[in-house]
Amino acid sequence: MTADPYSWMEDALATIHRAGWYRSMQTLHGRSGAVMTLDGQPVINFASNDYLGLAGDDRLIQAAIAATQEYGTGSTGSRLVSGHRDLHQQLERAIATLKQTEDALVFSSGYLANLGTVSALVGKRDLILSDQYNHSSLKNGAILSGATVLTYPHCDVAQLRQRLEQHRDRYRRCLLLTDSVFSMDGDLCPLSELLALATSFDAMLLVDEAHATGVLGATGAGCVEHFGCTGSPLIQVGTLSKALGSLGGYVAGSATLIDYLRNRSVGWIYTTGLSPADTAAALTGVAIARQEPQRRTQLWQNVAALKQALTQQLADNPDVDLTLLPSESPILCLQAASPAIALHLGAALRQAGIFAPAIRPPTVPTSRLRLTLMATHDRTHIQQFIAALNQAMQVHTQTISTNLRPRT
Ligand code: PMP
Repeated sequence: MTADPYSWMEDALATIHRAGWYRSMQTLHGRSGAVMTLDGQPVINFASNDYLGLAGDDRLIQAAIAATQEYGTGSTGSRLVSGHRDLHQQLERAIATLKQTEDALVFSSGYLANLGTVSALVGKRDLILSDQYNHSSLKNGAILSGATVLTYPHCDVAQLRQRLEQHRDRYRRCLLLTDSVFSMDGDLCPLSELLALATSFDAMLLVDEAHATGVLGATGAGCVEHFGCTGSPLIQVGTLSKALGSLGGYVAGSATLIDYLRNRSVGWIYTTGLSPADTAAALTGVAIARQEPQRRTQLWQNVAALKQALTQQLADNPDVDLTLLPSESPILCLQAASPAIALHLGAALRQAGIFAPAIRPPTVPTSRLRLTLMATHDRTHIQQFIAALNQAMQVHTQTISTNLRPRT
């Protein structure tokens, strides 16, 4: 009998199932928005990264259609061969203008922008210092680079300084990596302090603005603008797939950085250029994000309303093991005492027409309901969420408190 070289996958899946870590997909129907359809039922969507509500905006859709008609569906090659269009150039100029940097470079995804940038900036003789809660794309970019990687405790500037004092001198280049908005918690990195450390230890600083672009700062330029660090010597990476409503990633920084990446970043050189439709939609998304600050105002009003209601709700239900994590973004997390509690609440909300799935280990260290707000949510959506959560808590308090509480 010949051995099956693929049978190990079934064992691996069985292990994942046993750990309760198995994940499956849910199919949402309809145009992206605050209300979509799941299993034939309308659901209010609190799980989307479409913070400004642009992914379903007619203007982005029309831009994508027009670009497809003019250029075709694919860009047909890598940017350095046959895949470069004037649309890419326009988008890169628009991003550089938004970010107030000399230049920008568009990648096929935010993930690839991080992989391709980090791995191009440092190598075997270099040191990376990375926040423990950084996104997977930064972590894997660090591994790919071949540099020595040290993590520091989440947002702990004192610990980061200690590591720099201890290790910096032994390495050629040093790169600090941080998310600006941490995607699974919603808190912000201490950007000014990180910049000061980078300057005093002759280190580069790369900040991932994936969840901040379009959301934070007066013009939507991100955390860098929010903290008044515009024009500082840092490398800004982000995505076009969240608040900007399209697909793709970007890097913004000095003209030299961008020129270097065009010649050295394998995640940019050896992949097909972003499609005309995605590029044109992103270009329209950037323009709207700058020109319609009222979308940000609405988004932040929604964040404040939900935060206040959740705080009240938790105060009224002290028996339920949920904690609202500190957040300064449209990502609000209700941390649960166990994966079972998070799953239980997620399922109860789902039954009440709310889409807010539970996020569990290994994605995060502690289970939680991760709620994201959009500019296109209205007061009734938030009220319905609070009513559904209240009901889920009342109906399940007994179960949650007795059967599902972790044993101590
Ligand atoms: N960085 C962060 C912080 C993210 O949350 C994500 C997406 N989840 C990415 C990068 C990757 O972006 P994209 O989805 O465009 O590949």
